[in-house]
Amino acid sequence: MNSALESPILFGLISSFGIAIRYFIIAGAAYFVFWVQGKRRFQARKIQPGKMPRPGVMRREILWSVLSSFVFGFSGIWAFRNWMKLASGWSVGFSMSGFVMGVATFCLLAFLHDTYFYWMHRLVHHPKLFRLVHRVHHESVTPSPWAAFSFHPLEAILEALILPVLLLFIPVTPIVLVCFLVWMTILGVVNHLGYDPYFRGFDEHSVFKWMISARNHDHHHVHPDRNFGLYFTFWDHWMGTQWKRTDLNRLNRAKSDSQISASGEFARTQESLLQN
Ligand SMILES: [Zn+2]
Ligand SMILES: [Zn+2]
Repeated sequence: MNSALESPILFGLISSFGIAIRYFIIAGAAYFVFWVQGKRRFQARKIQPGKMPRPGVMRREILWSVLSSFVFGFSGIWAFRNWMKLASGWSVGFSMSGFVMGVATFCLLAFLHDTYFYWMHRLVHHPKLFRLVHRVHHESVTPSPWAAFSFHPLEAILEALILPVLLLFIPVTPIVLVCFLVWMTILGVVNHLGYDPYFRGFDEHSVFKWMISARNHDHHHVHPDRNFGLYFTFWDHWMGTQWKRTDLNRLNRAKSDSQISASGEFARTQESLLQN
């Protein structure tokens, strides 16, 4: 590992392959369970009933995601190498104070990452940036688990910038970082699952409504001026961009994307953005 730390290229390559393997394991497992094995069993949980990704979209989702893995792997090499040198000296033993500190740093990391993502996400929806930076991600109108990292490299760079910076200021231990990276990937996959894996009423529950659900982010892919969060709905609630039940009811009544686009209420939907 020391030789990898000395060589930025080797370090970046090992990180990139690790991220890509993590993506294939988690997205692949979700795809197999919901889209292959459980296609019939979970039919009632399909978020966009009767709709499937357009031909070739899943293949493109995988290609963009692999490219993003390399952007993530090479991002912040300097910060990660410094962090790893620092972390190698930390105790790995269990203590109650260490556990509480671990949970606190995890929550802080998640909230700050979500805050950065929310505002960055709103920025890349600006008409001047959308086509160049964020359009690739919204090519998935009916997302599949493979869309978890499906970003244009410019967006992948924007997404990757924040974690190395946070690691410079928050004392994150290796176990907390590993848990965070795995959780991040699992939520990225769940947000694009296409099926609702949670219990009925999750989005209205007094506690869970503050978490991003599979329905919540899927809705963003159809109705892109709502639901910009990554893990939580705090910012969407505070800034008035959170979806409402009435949005969903109207959306479900629409027979197709073109009908949705034709409706004045949904003027900035997926189709209209892609046609910009
Ligand atoms: Zn998405
Ligand atoms: Zn978006």
